Amino acid sequence: MKQLPSDTVRLLSSSQVITSVLNVVKELMENSLDAGASSIDVKLDNYGLDRIEVRDNGHGIKAVDTPVMAVRHFTSKICSHEDLEHLETYGFRGEALGSICAVAEVAVTTKTEEDDVSTQYMLDFKGNIVSQKPSHLGQGTTVSVMKLFKNLPVRRQCFSSTKKCKEELKKVQDLLMAYAIVKPELRLMLVHNKVGVWQKAKVADNRSALLATLGSSAVANLLPCHHHQEQPEIVLEGFFPKPGADYSTTSSSSPDKTFLFVNNRPVQLKEIMKLLRQHYSAQYPDDPARNRFPMLMLKITVPPSSVDVNLTPDKTQVLLHNKEAVLTAVEALLVSLYGFRPNTDLPAEKQ
Ligand code: ADP
Ligand code: MG
Repeated sequence: MKQLPSDTVRLLSSSQVITSVLNVVKELMENSLDAGASSIDVKLDNYGLDRIEVRDNGHGIKAVDTPVMAVRHFTSKICSHEDLEHLETYGFRGEALGSICAVAEVAVTTKTEEDDVSTQYMLDFKGNIVSQKPSHLGQGTTVSVMKLFKNLPVRRQCFSSTKKCKEELKKVQDLLMAYAIVKPELRLMLVHNKVGVWQKAKVADNRSALLATLGSSAVANLLPCHHHQEQPEIVLEGFFPKPGADYSTTSSSSPDKTFLFVNNRPVQLKEIMKLLRQHYSAQYPDDPARNRFPMLMLKITVPPSSVDVNLTPDKTQVLLHNKEAVLTAVEALLVSLYGFRPNTDLPAEKQ
């Protein structure tokens, strides 16, 4: 038996962390949000395979930190695993930039408030700086990722088909929409091959953010809902389809417009999704809407110490310590909104 060379180990583990264009965009956007950005531009060339650029107006990276910014396991966000108990940031593992460097060519341009000019750093396979030069950008950070998966030919090939490229661009747009909804104050822009795909200005609240993402006919049919409980502490804030609303304006054939968040993180929660669909579709017992996915947003806020977000590399699955209590609270909210329990009660007009 032989120990694998360190470069091989780096490539193997990095390619598990960085799995797609979507994944790169998510990691870079979360870094921008953690840096307090109020504006993020995402630009893709050739569906992100040739270039992914994420530019923010956040606090930038201090010159003293730049030598280690992309070295794996270096982070400015936590000091030890105990800090996960009160995690307020999207990132914490110090893995993204370093892993991206192992599967693409990366340049980081950054300027803090103290810097006179921005500096562009070129990084190598290990995330070390190989060269740097002054640049003209304003405060904030721009990360450019070129030739993604250049050293993973099978993966690059797999992402190159027209179908896959288009699916991935759609997923990137859905991801931007999720952050747009949960961060109304954020200005966002998505550009592909120099053509604007989607953008959202800074708005005042979740409802205005939903308007900018789902459009006025969907939002006219959504109702704000709220639930707050102590012990265990759970806050639910949402916009759900009005009882009996026309399903063509309040549902979709795929789950892409069901926006779920835990502590402001876009997440996938199978059991909650099932519950939401059951309650939504029970209103349309004889309609094709039965199998559709409701357009809605549900924001679940629980103490950081009761969530484990370190379950999957992309952090879209989370473990909730009080899962049963959260499910019960969501169910109570749905029952109060729709007025019946699926499988036990029928909608009033059907009784
Ligand atoms: P993590 O986000 O888990 O800390 P990353 O590899 O994504 O790990 O980033 C490493 C570090 O680089 C971050 O902790 C942060 O200090 C810095 N950084 C990365 N992107 C940005 C950004 N857009 N703005 C400011 N700092 C950044
Ligand atoms: Mg990060």
